[in-house]
Amino acid sequence: METIQLRAYAKINLGLDVLRRRPDGYHEVRMVMQTVGIWDELEFERIGEDVIRISADMQELPVNENNLIYRAVKRMKAMYGIREGVSVRLRKKIPVAAGMAGGSADAAAAIHAVDRLFGLGLSLAEKQAVGVRLGADVPYCLMGGTALAEGIGEVLTALPDTPGARLVVAKPNLNVSTKFVYENLHAERLSRHPDIDGMVESIRKGSLQGVTERMGNVLETVTCRSYPIIGQMKGLLMENGAMNALMSGSGPTVFGVFSEGERARQAYDAMEKSGLARQLFLTEFVGTEGLDERV
Ligand code: ATP
Repeated sequence: METIQLRAYAKINLGLDVLRRRPDGYHEVRMVMQTVGIWDELEFERIGEDVIRISADMQELPVNENNLIYRAVKRMKAMYGIREGVSVRLRKKIPVAAGMAGGSADAAAAIHAVDRLFGLGLSLAEKQAVGVRLGADVPYCLMGGTALAEGIGEVLTALPDTPGARLVVAKPNLNVSTKFVYENLHAERLSRHPDIDGMVESIRKGSLQGVTERMGNVLETVTCRSYPIIGQMKGLLMENGAMNALMSGSGPTVFGVFSEGERARQAYDAMEKSGLARQLFLTEFVGTEGLDERV
């Protein structure tokens, strides 16, 4: 039987602004999304029996309907009348509940895989129409690279690759629920908003300095108050030569951007020594060319 192996890449938010809370409870956002070199490995296989079977190398993860991979495969099967089954093996590397869209990335990989396994020949837009019903970040994860995400995150504008940089990505030993963060955010009371338009302009001009100067995430107003360790970790990255440091998404993962590999390595070592990080990565931005090799 044919098997397909895919990488599902994590993202960070170089900028994250919340404009308002809509009457339906969703938040209107403006975010600059960036793929980074941290990925899950997934293997998909067609099976004769009409079931969806998932195995994962991390015990805490659900392997039933609660796994986004399951929901993605189920929706694809229903939409395209597929009566065969799919088995999926997941090797989890992306920190979980971390603000790195790990579940959404896996769901996107599942949509790509079912499309290929059953020769559906879907366009990106068709895949994104399936993905948006699974989660607001899934349409972005289907394309990857650098993008501006608006609406509730599903209105996407592809941007040129951000200039290359090294990254230190660190998750403290705590889990933060996205729901908690948004519920405790007072969007209408925010006094400062990151300059998302300026950041997009800097990306278009190829200015890494312009990008890092404008890094900002309004969700830090909630998490940094509740979890001081996030501010501590950002401080440590800055002291060790980061151009800037920020929390990704609803956290608690933080990242520092470095123009030089040597500095990034030093900051990585300092973070490791500090014992503040439960998970730690030395990585980089992944551009659209890098993503061509994801299969
Ligand atoms: P986001 O950046 O979109 O807020 P996140 O990093 O906060 O995402 P995820 O790691 O995507 O959060 O998942 C959060 C929860 O979703 C986990 O606690 C887990 O139980 C559940 N989940 C379901 N499917 C998956 C999956 N394939 N990978 C990771 N988590 C999953």
